[in-house]
Amino acid sequence: MTSAECLFCRIAGGAVPAEVVAQTEQFLAFKDIKPHAPVHLLIIPVEHIPSLADVTPQHTGLMGEAIQFTNRVARQFQLAQTGYRVVVNCGEQAGQTVSHLHLHLLGGRPLRWPPG
Ligand code: AMP
Ligand code: ZN
Repeated sequence: MTSAECLFCRIAGGAVPAEVVAQTEQFLAFKDIKPHAPVHLLIIPVEHIPSLADVTPQHTGLMGEAIQFTNRVARQFQLAQTGYRVVVNCGEQAGQTVSHLHLHLLGGRPLRWPPG
């Protein structure tokens, strides 16, 4: 898949609109179109990485930055006190539907465990 065909690359490039809530050179955070919690955001690297399974040693720095970016966005949405969940679905059985690495940031209500 080229970045021209990838939905999240198109969002990162501005070709497809999204409700962007935070942005850096490396990452974008935007509202999930079908939220499962009062706060349900997607955090994506601008770089096209198809899935968590495609993360290599060259992405070590990027992944650390991704967590810190996610924490900043969580604070921006006042989730730091109450808590929040970060989920990455990897592959078919985990329910990954978009082949561009994304972290779900969920919060604003009690979250059950284990997930289905
Ligand atoms: P996953 O199932 O883990 O691959 O997550 C993909 C997520 O992307 C789902 O929660 C969808 O609701 C969300 N999604 C799909 N298309 C869009 C879009 N155009 N804008 C925002 N979120 C989207
Ligand atoms: Zn992509």
